[in-house]
Amino acid sequence: ARPSSYIGRFAPSPTGPLHFGSLVAALGSWLDAHAQGGRWAVRIDDLDRPRNVPGADGSILRTLDGFGLWWDGPVAYQSKREEAYRAALVHLQRAGLAFPCGCSRREISRTGRLGPAGYIYPGTCRAGRPIDRPLRSWRMLSRSAPIRFQDRACIGIQEMDLERMVGDFVICRADGLYAYHLASVVDDAALGVTDVVRGGDLLNCAPPQILLQRKLGLPTPRYLHLPVARDTEGKKLSKQTQAPPVHPHRAGAWLHSALAFLRQAPPAELRAAPPGELLGWALRHWRPQRLLNPPAAFWP
Ligand code: GLU
Repeated sequence: ARPSSYIGRFAPSPTGPLHFGSLVAALGSWLDAHAQGGRWAVRIDDLDRPRNVPGADGSILRTLDGFGLWWDGPVAYQSKREEAYRAALVHLQRAGLAFPCGCSRREISRTGRLGPAGYIYPGTCRAGRPIDRPLRSWRMLSRSAPIRFQDRACIGIQEMDLERMVGDFVICRADGLYAYHLASVVDDAALGVTDVVRGGDLLNCAPPQILLQRKLGLPTPRYLHLPVARDTEGKKLSKQTQAPPVHPHRAGAWLHSALAFLRQAPPAELRAAPPGELLGWALRHWRPQRLLNPPAAFWP
């Protein structure tokens, strides 16, 4: 492929070993980057310390390596990037876009409506946090024109009224834990990411992230949200639901399944092929347009 300015990334949370769902995300973003002659970086999303599993980052990296999904440049760790997140928070505070909130999650679940990304913050502390309440978080003001964007896997323009569907979202907790939306946007920009290719469960995350990009003066990447891998009961495969780990000693079989899941129709005779051969075939035949979904399949 010709050299290009494409920069992609895979950003696992180190909460357990790589499973089929995260292999699909890794493979899809790796293929899309390499098919366009781009670079592909790995970032470990380890900000939520209580959820981190010791050694999970090493296990994920060894598994990627065993599958031949090699990355460019050093692996980035979000836990080392707090200075950059703080600067972004300060920028939003000074712009009057981030406000202090004293509401607990329990209170919000009592008064807020349930939206696609959890309870919708009803705006309680927008006009000021009551002085008898401790600071619990900094929230991003979600008041804006509806966020419109294109996803390469969706027909038409996606549109979300953030205020109505998500509400003012947390960007930093009082204990100093920066939220995923803020950290992800700051890191993607720092790395020069041009294309975000990730699981379709994160489609709902694009609008708040686009709002943050705009307010922080950062570019918006192209998006491609992949189909979500589910178990037999229809639940999303995740480390929390103990999805079985994938193993490099059966890399060919796993890659074959992941390619079939990505609708790339790998030939049956490649099922037992070494990973390099499967990846080579997949790169030559990568057809992301096969991931196109029927319109309006999204905001649940
Ligand atoms: N760390 C996130 C996850 O594992 C993904 C972040 C992203 O791709 O934006 O779900």
